[in-house]
Amino acid sequence: MCGIVGYIGDGPAAPAILDGLRALEYRGYDSAGLAILTPDGLSVRRRAGRIDDLVSLVDERLMSGAIGIGHTRWATHGAVTDANAHPHADASGRLVIVHNGMTDNVAELRAELLADGHVFDSETDTEVIAHLIGVERDAGLPLTDAVGRTLRRLAGAHSVLALAADEPDLLVGGRVGAAGGLVVGHGASEAFLASDLPAVVRHTRNLQVVEAGEIVTLRSDGAEFQDLNNRPRDRRLISVPWGPMAAAKAGHRHFMHKEIHEQPDTLADTIRPRVTLEPAELRLQDFQLPVDARDIERAVIVASGSSNFAGMVGARYLRELAQLPATTEVASEFAYGPGPLSPGTLVIAISQSGATADVLLAVERARADGAPVVALVNTVGSELTRTADAAFHLHAGPEISVCATKTFVSQLGALYLLSCHLGVLRDTLSPDQLARRLAHIAHAPLAVARVLEIENQIEELARRYHDAANFLYMGRGLAHPIALEGALKLKEISYIHAEGFAAGELKHGPIALVAPDIPVVAVALNDELRPKILNAVEQTRSRNGRVILIASEGDDLHAGIAEEVITVPRTPPLIAPIVSVVPLQLFAYHIAVWLGLDVDQPRNLAKSVTVE
Ligand code: GLU
Repeated sequence: MCGIVGYIGDGPAAPAILDGLRALEYRGYDSAGLAILTPDGLSVRRRAGRIDDLVSLVDERLMSGAIGIGHTRWATHGAVTDANAHPHADASGRLVIVHNGMTDNVAELRAELLADGHVFDSETDTEVIAHLIGVERDAGLPLTDAVGRTLRRLAGAHSVLALAADEPDLLVGGRVGAAGGLVVGHGASEAFLASDLPAVVRHTRNLQVVEAGEIVTLRSDGAEFQDLNNRPRDRRLISVPWGPMAAAKAGHRHFMHKEIHEQPDTLADTIRPRVTLEPAELRLQDFQLPVDARDIERAVIVASGSSNFAGMVGARYLRELAQLPATTEVASEFAYGPGPLSPGTLVIAISQSGATADVLLAVERARADGAPVVALVNTVGSELTRTADAAFHLHAGPEISVCATKTFVSQLGALYLLSCHLGVLRDTLSPDQLARRLAHIAHAPLAVARVLEIENQIEELARRYHDAANFLYMGRGLAHPIALEGALKLKEISYIHAEGFAAGELKHGPIALVAPDIPVVAVALNDELRPKILNAVEQTRSRNGRVILIASEGDDLHAGIAEEVITVPRTPPLIAPIVSVVPLQLFAYHIAVWLGLDVDQPRNLAKSVTVE
């Protein structure tokens, strides 16, 4: 979800900001802008389009300032126009802000300001926020407190950065919810603030992370943290070692750990720019379905590895949300025997890298047979996006660890949105149903964040189980692909044999393996199949199997149903796979760490499989 960059130091600010914005381009954007405090006052330049278009607006006056803020926008409120590009000013024009996120209660806040005579130059929620901060300052609050007070009033998820002409020695940043991160970087006589590390580590390795619910006041020689109620917070300085890899790990021991922990933000990056809740709208401004939705007779998802399991969940989303017959095929199989295809078969090709050979071959085959192809990819500009008829980007940021985590979760988010989109176009989702479904997915990042809070419990579980030589993973319905993904994570990075299966198949074979030395991980979702998976758990236990059960909070489980129970937040059933995969990622990660293995570069595996 776009980017924020701030600079304060001995300048000039503009080149540092533009450089930082370029480093955040991978997040996707539709407009760019910056504001610099010059000796003659605030100077704002902003434009719909690329950062290069913005560069042409940077003049001598702008170069004379040593403090400023910059932004790449991905529109959620208001069209992609110059007037809607950030920064936005308050009523006085002496305060400017940039903002990532979206304001769920913007209608009432705007109405309140309009009643008080405010006039707006843009359609954005961001300008409303700027005016609210201005109102607080007019009432006498310093910028820091005015930002804190305003953030308390905003529903939704936000990162903001503010600059005021009459407080010329500071910048104020703030975060609520998951709307892209904020990282502070401290240089010798300058400081930076940005949505993500790539924009900062090129200047300094001394970092501080702004957590959700915090405000930071940044000066060229330091930063002060406080919560939204002005209570000071201590913040550790992370000194990341030199070397681009170490720096990019941001204090995490492994990329996989960092990427698991990024998931609330990266999932939000996939979802939030495309979803508004007030009014409930799905706006896929960067995606065009290559076929009339009513002409689609069926959908086939083609993918490999984790993407294939994401595709299995996606097929269910398509069936349920768009009433579309949908199946998933392993790309390498589909490429050599796709069966009958027609212009009425929508092929959805999923690949994290967009360079997966098997998926590219499958797409070639589908196109040769006249089927329209939509690519679901993370890497912008990849080969798959060029060969498919249309691309739907995840915007999850670079995934370095070989083992997919955040891209899997974002694939689920993207497939959910795509299914809602088809549901709207095919009239299978009424406006009310759409509103409900969008609210469900909009809350998923917070539920993922809550799973990360129980990491200690999962780490302890990994300690106790890391010496098992085999694992079984089972689930039913939407939990089936999650069980397969959990088993794949474990085998990829711990080299422990792990087998996933549909729990209904237990008695058709896997039950022969059940024994005390083969732990069974069972995934129970909060849906109609829950009694059936619990039944499979009972059968496993009655044959002396040891069960680790993933269940939902509030599940009424009888004591002793499983050796171990991990509870995740209760969500609507279609969101549950997104939440339930996270403990399985953490479990595999901590087992590999216990075994002392190379988590990020597991043997024999490559990040993208570019040859057959
Ligand atoms: N909601 C704001 C807008 O539409 C910010 C979007 C973003 O995160 O860039 O302008």
